[in-house]
Amino acid sequence: MTIRTTCPYCGVGCGVLATPDEQGGLTVRGDPDHPANRGRLCVKGAALGETVATQGRLLTPRIDGAEASWDRALDLVADRFAAAVRDHGPDSVAMYVSGQLLTEDYYAANKLMKGFIGSANIDTNSRLCMASSVAGHRRAFGSDTVPGLYEDLELADLVVLTGSNLAWCHPVLHQRLMAAKAARPDMRIVVIDPRRTATCEGADLHLAIAPGADAHLFNLLLCHLFDTGRIDAGFMPHVAGLDVALSAARRADPAATGLEPCDLSAFLEMWAATDRVVTVYSQGINQSDTGTDKVNAILNCHLATGRIGHPGMGPFSVTGQPNAMGGREVGGLSNMLACHLELENPDHRDAVRAFWNAPRMAERPGLKAVDLFRAVEEGRIKALWIIHTNPAVTMPDADRVARAIAACDFTVVSEAWPDTDTARLAHVLLPATAWGEKDGTVTNSERLISRQRAALPAPGQARPDWWAVAQVARRMGFRGFGWTEPAQIFAEHAALSGVAGALGGDFDISDLAGADYEALAPVHWPQGPAQRAGRFFGTGRFHTPDGRARMAPVMARLPDHPVGRMLLNTGRTRDQWHTMTRTGLSPRLARHLAEPYLQLHPDDAGRLGLAAADLAQVDSPQGRAILRVMISDAVRPGHPFAPIHWSGQSASAGRIDALVAGQVDPVSGQPASKAAAVTVGRF
Ligand code: SF4
Repeated sequence: MTIRTTCPYCGVGCGVLATPDEQGGLTVRGDPDHPANRGRLCVKGAALGETVATQGRLLTPRIDGAEASWDRALDLVADRFAAAVRDHGPDSVAMYVSGQLLTEDYYAANKLMKGFIGSANIDTNSRLCMASSVAGHRRAFGSDTVPGLYEDLELADLVVLTGSNLAWCHPVLHQRLMAAKAARPDMRIVVIDPRRTATCEGADLHLAIAPGADAHLFNLLLCHLFDTGRIDAGFMPHVAGLDVALSAARRADPAATGLEPCDLSAFLEMWAATDRVVTVYSQGINQSDTGTDKVNAILNCHLATGRIGHPGMGPFSVTGQPNAMGGREVGGLSNMLACHLELENPDHRDAVRAFWNAPRMAERPGLKAVDLFRAVEEGRIKALWIIHTNPAVTMPDADRVARAIAACDFTVVSEAWPDTDTARLAHVLLPATAWGEKDGTVTNSERLISRQRAALPAPGQARPDWWAVAQVARRMGFRGFGWTEPAQIFAEHAALSGVAGALGGDFDISDLAGADYEALAPVHWPQGPAQRAGRFFGTGRFHTPDGRARMAPVMARLPDHPVGRMLLNTGRTRDQWHTMTRTGLSPRLARHLAEPYLQLHPDDAGRLGLAAADLAQVDSPQGRAILRVMISDAVRPGHPFAPIHWSGQSASAGRIDALVAGQVDPVSGQPASKAAAVTVGRF
């Protein structure tokens, strides 16, 4: 029997048809009826069937390395969390979760922490991915709302991709874009990226911008729009702050962009002269210590021209993970409440408290990821639960984070595999179901809710994450966690969103509370005539108190570049995913780029005496990595690139986040993972 499910990797959220075979495996193909991919799959999605073997899986709970029963493990977790709360207060416990979680898992964890334990110390690895987009949306729109849909990329006359290697990181969306351009060759595509990536191959113009100069560029665009009379006067009653945004934008410096004046002028006029323009952005914008400002510099240009909420136009943040959006919807970030409600708003807290019948609501935002692990390091967190993520590899300053986790009084890790760098540090390991065995929902980058369905039985004693969270909550004496299946959690989440909708929030899927969960087909939110075909803001009504959008004044600033150091750019490769726990199981995927590497400009290589395939030693104040040299003029001099996927404790393992400093954007708390100051030499 073939099961309709959803890919567990990137935020495109492709539909997958999975058919179990007689050997316990799966064959997969793209779901032709799924709106996100219409039958397409990229190489990672197509290899999913090669990654479902149960060899090496964590099959039973473990306490201090020894196998244990679920009852013993859950009792211990509940006892230690309850003791920490009793002895040190609710903020002495924390959860660190993941955009890999299904919405139902996320909902359960968020409810336990924010409504019952009484602390908002639950953050997610989405903090490393798109927190600056969330902050920028909230600052401009009054809500964390992605205005557009994927089809807007196909309908646009100009698609600008900035800080996004869409061809490798969101391949099926890139395929859709390329197909649209093939059908309509007049469509123009501009890629703004310091690096010449695979995405540039399909573009009309590549602007190899100076690293981190995006806010300068979009501030220059705002000035150009004003100076050439392209501000949409009819939309301005819906927008506040043009004057202050423009005044700040006047400080932008064309020279800071590093672009030739003719290329810069061509881009500014192309954008200004094109009504149907979509600006796609991703981690290249977000992963910066000025990420929120960069997001707002982009949003300002769309607001100033009213190019938002209509077919073929708008700013578009593409998320990295399969359920980063679902996590935002349930309030998985430490500064959010459930259903896009505000933790700082007493009315919102009261509404959620009443709905949950919560005994102890969190009253203020909790610790964001980098600060959360600093609190672990300082001994302020006495009990920590990490679910489906590998922060000992992926957090900035990863060595320090690994040491902090190792020294924590009590660490629980929910995982499918027992040998990740983080799982090895756990006092209690809880065996979790993985893709192919899990049942729930995810939301992709265009607000499309899809079902992930189980096609295989759970191996050994592996259980869903929502179940483990609910079991601990019940053992801690809390009511409201009596679910026996994910459909009940989804119905509760949908019903709570109706409360949020009544408070004027954007996220309201209450019409799905009574839906047939088993048969649930992919569905966009919002639905209904008030919105234009699932888009937001076309009517000019925003989620601020006065209904007007806010243009933020952005003072553009380049990243600090210490003398004598290079600024290392980091990112994904085409065929691997995160720390490779799943994609690493496919030999086919390993053939693309088989080992950690450093992409280095020929001028830098010559100066350092490094040849192709040499081993380079890359050092930062935080750590060291030994990487294979790949010489290429695709990167700028002084700005090498290294991929993030490899793990392991030695420097030769190539763990890139060990080099990244824990410097964050002051608004979003997102780390500046795209600009690690390093020295490079021969190993
Ligand atoms: Fe999966 Fe993303 Fe590839 Fe689609 S584009 S198959 S969601 S990795």
